[in-house]
Amino acid sequence: MSPLLEIQGLVKHYPVGSRFSAQRRLLRAVDGIDLSVSPGETLGLVGESGCGKSTTVRMIMRLLEPTAGRILFDGQEITRLSGARLKAVRQRMQIVFQDPFASLNPRKTVERIVSDPLEIHRIGTAAERRARVYKLLQRVGLDRSHADRYPHEFSGGQRQRISIARALACAPQLIVADEPVSALDVSIQAQVINLLQDLQRDLALTMIFISHDLSVVQYVSDSIAVMYLGKIVELGPSHAIYHEAQHPYTRSLLSAIPVPDPTRRGSVPPLESELPSPMNIPAGCRFHPRCPLATERCRREAPELRPVGAQQVACHNI
Ligand code: ADP
Ligand code: MG
Repeated sequence: MSPLLEIQGLVKHYPVGSRFSAQRRLLRAVDGIDLSVSPGETLGLVGESGCGKSTTVRMIMRLLEPTAGRILFDGQEITRLSGARLKAVRQRMQIVFQDPFASLNPRKTVERIVSDPLEIHRIGTAAERRARVYKLLQRVGLDRSHADRYPHEFSGGQRQRISIARALACAPQLIVADEPVSALDVSIQAQVINLLQDLQRDLALTMIFISHDLSVVQYVSDSIAVMYLGKIVELGPSHAIYHEAQHPYTRSLLSAIPVPDPTRRGSVPPLESELPSPMNIPAGCRFHPRCPLATERCRREAPELRPVGAQQVACHNI
């Protein structure tokens, strides 16, 4: 099946420091990644905070201009689309952000918020839009009586449901959920994750689900991409990544998951040292300063992704 979304060699570099300073440097937020997502599939994107996950999906959504690389959506290159053609593609992909407090306009009612995308894309009459909003609210576990209220009247979990209703308004094919539960109380995280999963199944959505927590990503994803300092270091089916992780970085992420799981062995200790700055990416394998398996070769030569078992892994030592 041809992918719904494909990215090739995607790069985002930020120049930092004063324009006039000799010390102008590059922050390499995303440093050349390839991914493809099949229709109806959920791809999990995981990695520590600051590794480039949000930057990647913001480029996919065309909210950020890539420094280099290509983005293909449903067979069409969208990297440089603008105007009406970009707007048409935007209708087909939607994002749910991490912070349901910052992402909802406090001055708008829930009805206005959820119907905004319908108005932007000139879908339906006012009455049809209202009916659609009621239906969407019910679909995400809210009530039509919530339509006249304002975001501050809701809990974090309910706000995230409103964000999800808004994302679904134009019946998109692709939903990007960027840490959709990371700002929520643990007790309600599962409800929102289950809602997203139900919607994904019922509406045959294609989804990119981002989290810094591999156990959450594993739960929702068909396949998983593990990111480290702007690169993908391991990629493959969810069960393989979770039960037979190969890359030492993936294995450290697994060891950090507190619930002991007898089916997997944490042969690598959880990471303690800090993620290096993306302004100062280590030479060779960018993980080598934190890697328990690092050798001389790792300090010199950057490993490429290559097939190992069911997945692809960028490591010289496995
Ligand atoms: P993640 O979502 O994985 O936590 P991000 O994609 O938000 O990571 O950020 C990746 C890196 O890019 C971080 O070091 C972040 O500080 C940096 N970054 C993000 N946006 C900008 C920007 N507008 N200018 C400079 N650096 C940025
Ligand atoms: Mg982020």
